[in-house]
Amino acid sequence: MNKLRGFEVGPIRPPSEAKSLLVRVTRNCQWNRCTFCPVYKDKEFSVRSVDEVISDIDLLCKHLSSIRASFKFPHEMSADQIRALSQKVDPMELPTFDYAFKWFYYGMHSVFLQDADSLVIGSENLARILRHLRDTFPWIERVTSYSRSSTILKIGKEGLREIRNASLDRIHVGLESGSDTVLRFVKKGATKEMHIRAGRMAKDVGFELSEYVMPGLGGKKLTVEHAEETADALNQINPDFIRLRPLALTSRAPLFLESEKGHFQKCNDIEIVQELLLLIGNLEGISSMIVSDHILNLFADLEGRLPQDKEKLLSILHSFMSMDSESQLLFRLGRRLGLFEGMGDMNNTKKLDRARNIVTTKGITTQNIDTVIDKLMERFI
Ligand code: SF4
Repeated sequence: MNKLRGFEVGPIRPPSEAKSLLVRVTRNCQWNRCTFCPVYKDKEFSVRSVDEVISDIDLLCKHLSSIRASFKFPHEMSADQIRALSQKVDPMELPTFDYAFKWFYYGMHSVFLQDADSLVIGSENLARILRHLRDTFPWIERVTSYSRSSTILKIGKEGLREIRNASLDRIHVGLESGSDTVLRFVKKGATKEMHIRAGRMAKDVGFELSEYVMPGLGGKKLTVEHAEETADALNQINPDFIRLRPLALTSRAPLFLESEKGHFQKCNDIEIVQELLLLIGNLEGISSMIVSDHILNLFADLEGRLPQDKEKLLSILHSFMSMDSESQLLFRLGRRLGLFEGMGDMNNTKKLDRARNIVTTKGITTQNIDTVIDKLMERFI
């Protein structure tokens, strides 16, 4: 928890909210049982009072006003001017000044409510916070939050409408899988039917809906069921965004222990690509945008609107599968090292030579590449 006076920020946000102001409404996750998720495992859940959140917003507004009184546009600011301005700030409020400054720098377009499920505080409390946020920063273009399907269903249509009328624009839901077997195994606390009902309800009320899908979550055993059932759930929801965020395990996640005990066999990149072919191939009759905005994705450019971009998406996956095993190894490694973004980078001789050089010097082979990739991916969890 980062708190000196006032402004408090939680540990995570969706990648798409990197430039958003983060407003912490609750601390940690009330559910906290998903076995693949390490984020809040040793942390206790609590709700911040509405007055406390409002006082964060007011404190940030105070510092933002002083920044805006000195500079009209971020590019006008020199390092010396910023230093001079920050020296006038009460040291106890410097973190708030820094957040205000960062948001100003990014254009002050959007706000993300933290942590894992802000809707859990109830529609009345959330609407109060949202109204205060909009009154204080009337220029905001988008306010978004994570929520869980079970919370959405508990709040119901009337409560959701109250929240939507108070201008929450987008809800990010961790669907993860449409397979009840997988959802039960990872203790998601939702069934396929609940995900579908909650997703449709959120869309009916007028929210933009992001559904997070976790390729690999069924492991080797349930990969086909995971892909087919997830596609079926998404076909019934038609979310605005389908965001891919593949499974990566750290020792802090209970599923890691399951995998150590041999109760869960993790898919490698190639099995995940096969799973994605099945998942995307089965998406029918929807107009969602597929997004690969998480660094864990093997292809940063696996993005497009359905149905028109479906063939393009499948062709990226097919072209990876048609490469020989040495080229697949180079691409996997190059991507995880930040050298490559998409398959097009395989034509970049300079980047390819760098990847080849690492493979040779580190002794990476088709036998040990899965372990190497697992280690590299741990940095991003
Ligand atoms: S995945 Fe989301 S709901 Fe599940 S434990 Fe993690 S933060 Fe909580």
